[in-house]
Amino acid sequence: MITESLQINEKGHLAIGGIDTLFLTEKYGTPLYVMDEDQIRKNCKSYVNAINDYYDGYGMIAYASKAFNCKAMCGIIKDENMGIDVVSGGELYTAKLVGFPAEKIVFHGNNKTPNELIMAIEYGVGRIVVDNIFELKLLDKLAAAANKKINIMLRIKPGVDAHTHDFIRTGQIDSKFGFALETGEAMDAVEQSLKTENLNLSGLHCHIGSQIFDIEPFCHASEIMLNFMCDIREKFGFTVKELNMGGGFGIKYIKENDPPSYTNFVKDIIATIKTTCKKKQFDLPFLIFEPGRSIVGEAGITLYTIGAIKEIPNIRTYISVDGGMCDNPRYALYKADYTFTVANRANEEKTNKVTIAGKCCESGDILGENIMLQNVEIGDTLAVMSTGAYNYAMSSNYNRNLTPPVIMIKDSKDRIVIKGQTYEDIVRNDI
Ligand SMILES: *Cc1c(COP(=O)(O)O)cnc(C)c1O
Repeated sequence: MITESLQINEKGHLAIGGIDTLFLTEKYGTPLYVMDEDQIRKNCKSYVNAINDYYDGYGMIAYASKAFNCKAMCGIIKDENMGIDVVSGGELYTAKLVGFPAEKIVFHGNNKTPNELIMAIEYGVGRIVVDNIFELKLLDKLAAAANKKINIMLRIKPGVDAHTHDFIRTGQIDSKFGFALETGEAMDAVEQSLKTENLNLSGLHCHIGSQIFDIEPFCHASEIMLNFMCDIREKFGFTVKELNMGGGFGIKYIKENDPPSYTNFVKDIIATIKTTCKKKQFDLPFLIFEPGRSIVGEAGITLYTIGAIKEIPNIRTYISVDGGMCDNPRYALYKADYTFTVANRANEEKTNKVTIAGKCCESGDILGENIMLQNVEIGDTLAVMSTGAYNYAMSSNYNRNLTPPVIMIKDSKDRIVIKGQTYEDIVRNDI
């Protein structure tokens, strides 16, 4: 099977975490998000162990919760003794509800609102990643009003293109996130940070992209960041003590995807950091990684019931499901690849080329094109793999479709962690 969590059982059905998917659809209905909690925890541990094994534990894995955030997920991350990234008041609120240790929260975003910043200050968020000068000034003022000293990191654009390995200048300057290195903007931000009364520049941050399979660009970026930290030391006699290398480690959506192990990502980046620090006689920084997709992505699947089948002779066959872009907008957004299987015929051969359509009123509401699939009949169950990240998180109520429930499997037991919406939920705020 494409991911570790999945099996084909003795009935020829797709199983996840040892549970028959058809048992789950019967119990909870479709569409249904299912996540393998054992796999999530295993992924967490492999990152945490890598920091312990290769960096004496002098760092933190902060789960980028935008990939999948809910109370149960924040609870798992807290339980695994990790940190957490939030990018909005809503994500912060959720983390807060499970009593997430505030000092282990990292707050990101290119346009945090004053209210969100006040919330973060009041809660005592450990690190606020400042994106721009406007925010730096605003945060300094808000910290003064609260009579608190706030730890900040600065978001830097290191100028590394993750997909070509090239050091692309203009390409990276044109990003809505962070301060550019090569224009002097980043150095200016450091200078202004050091002049503030209420902010403590604890570290630098970069995030070079997402769904990246090569380790090299991360190593390259870490070297650039450390060189910049040395430049800061030289210019201001100030040592920045923390380095946050972001996330973006790739996962397996289709069999052609072949990501290195997370351990290897961490290990190789650390090797570069150690070499660079030694060469420059710079103390090893406290190191943060922020994996999101790679913690939850492969651990999740989505189950649908197949409805209308439309054969357009010599053109294509549409197989429609009872969900679509409302629960998974990623194909509509950027033609994301997925692996599909018919859960009740998982042991049969995939002989038909089909297009999977959602039920929303948009021609672009497609989950996959030219997908090889088993013979199907109306009422069969379609499974889409690797939907644990950026699926529930990006879901919407377009067409007033209901957001499906999320089920977690742990020790071969299923439990509901997010209830499915009801029609009452849909009209709850209507006046
Ligand atoms: C999105 C994001 C991440 C996580 O990216 P993944 O590709 O899900 O690992 C980490 N850090 C920052 C700042 C991000 O914006």
